[in-house]
Amino acid sequence: MGTTLLPGCAGKYVLGVDPACPGCQELLIAPHMLLHCPNHKAQRDHLEAALHSHQLVLNLSNMLDPKGAARGPVFSALAKYLLDCQITDKI
Ligand SMILES: [Zn+2]
Repeated sequence: MGTTLLPGCAGKYVLGVDPACPGCQELLIAPHMLLHCPNHKAQRDHLEAALHSHQLVLNLSNMLDPKGAARGPVFSALAKYLLDCQITDKI
C-alpha cells in the first residue's frame, strides 16, 4: 500500500501532524482506518456486510482489489465507508 495523507503516514514527513488516531491513539495508517479503528465500527459493519454478500471476508485485498462481479458493489460500499467516516480529504 502506498503513501497516504492519513496522519500516521503524512506525520512522518510533515512536522506538526500528529500521527495518532484522534479517537483511539493508535497509529493512523490505512489498515487501522479501514480494518481496526473501533471508532468506525458501525460504518465498517455496512462495508463488511457488502463484502460478505459476495462471499468475501473483510481484509485489505478484498476491499481494495475485489474480483469480478464484486468489484462495483465493493467499491461503492468502500466509497460510502470513506464518506461516512469523513476521511475523503486524507486519502
Ligand atoms: Zn482509531
